[in-house]
Amino acid sequence: MTDTDAVAGWLAEAQAAVVLTGAGISTESGIPDFRGPQGVWTKNPAAQFMFTIDNYLADPQVRRQAWEARLASPVWTAEPNAGHRALVEYERTGRLRAILTQNIDGLHQAAGSTESRVVELHGTVREVVCLDCGDRNPMPEVLPRIEAGETDPPCLECGGILKSATISFGQELLPEVIETAVAATRGADLFVAIGTSLGVYPAAGLCDYAIARGVRLVIINAEPTPYDDDADAVLRQPIGEVLPRLVAGAA
Ligand code: NAD
Ligand code: ZN
Repeated sequence: MTDTDAVAGWLAEAQAAVVLTGAGISTESGIPDFRGPQGVWTKNPAAQFMFTIDNYLADPQVRRQAWEARLASPVWTAEPNAGHRALVEYERTGRLRAILTQNIDGLHQAAGSTESRVVELHGTVREVVCLDCGDRNPMPEVLPRIEAGETDPPCLECGGILKSATISFGQELLPEVIETAVAATRGADLFVAIGTSLGVYPAAGLCDYAIARGVRLVIINAEPTPYDDDADAVLRQPIGEVLPRLVAGAA
C-alpha cells in the first residue's frame, strides 16, 4: 500500500480528524507563502521587519509600508482552490472536527468550511483592530482610506494605532484561540498538517500534543519539516492535487 492509500484509509476511519493548515494550502490561490521557494521572506528577508509588533508600534514609516502591503495583497482577489474545497468535502463526511489555520486569508471560510470549525490561530486580515481601544472593524472600511492617501489611519473611536487583526511577531496569540485549538487537538484521533513548514510556535507545537497522545500524524508539505521523523506518513505532492484524491478515498 502506498502512503497516499494509507492516509486515505486513515481519513476514512477517523471520527475526529483535526487539520492544521499553513500558507502552503493557499499558494495555489496565488498567495505566496513565507518560507517556500517563492516565499515572501525567501525573496525579501527584510519583509519580516514590518510584521514585528515593536517596529510597527515605533515607526509610522513601518505602518505606512504595512498598509501599502495590505492594499497590494493578492488576498483581496484570491479564490479558494482545490485544497480548500477538499476540506469542505471532507467536513461533509462528518469526520472533520476542526481546521486550525495559521492563515489569515479567510479562504477556508470562503470555500465553504463551517465558520465555527475554523480556528484562525493568527487572526484575520479581513478585520482591523485598534491597538489602543480594541475597536474592531472590517478591513474594507480602512483600505479606502489608504487608497485616498492616508499612510497611518488612526482609530476613528480614539485616535489610536490601527493594525490588521493578525498576530505579528512579538504578539501573543489570543488565549481563547489557543485553548480552542488545544482542546480540538486533545480530542483528535488523526492530526494532519497541511502546507506548513511547522516552524512557527505555538502553532507547530500542536503536533507535539498529537504525538504525546499517540495520535496518528500526517504531514502534507512540499518541503521537509522538523516533524517529519515523528509522522506516520509524509506526502510531498502538491496539496491541490493530493488532498482531493485523499478525500475522495475517504468519502
Ligand atoms: P511557511 O511559508 O512557513 O511554509 C509553507 C510551506 O508550504 C512550505 O514548506 C512550502 O514548501 C509548502 N508549500 C507551499 N505550497 C505548497 C503546495 N502547493 N503543496 C505542498 N506544499 C506547499 O508557512 P506557515 O508554516 O503557514 O507559516 C507562515 C506564517 O505566515 C503563518 O504564521 C501565517 O500566519 C503567515 N502567512 C499566511 C499566509 C496566508 O494567509 N495565506 C501567507 C503567508 C504567510
Ligand atoms: Zn481606538
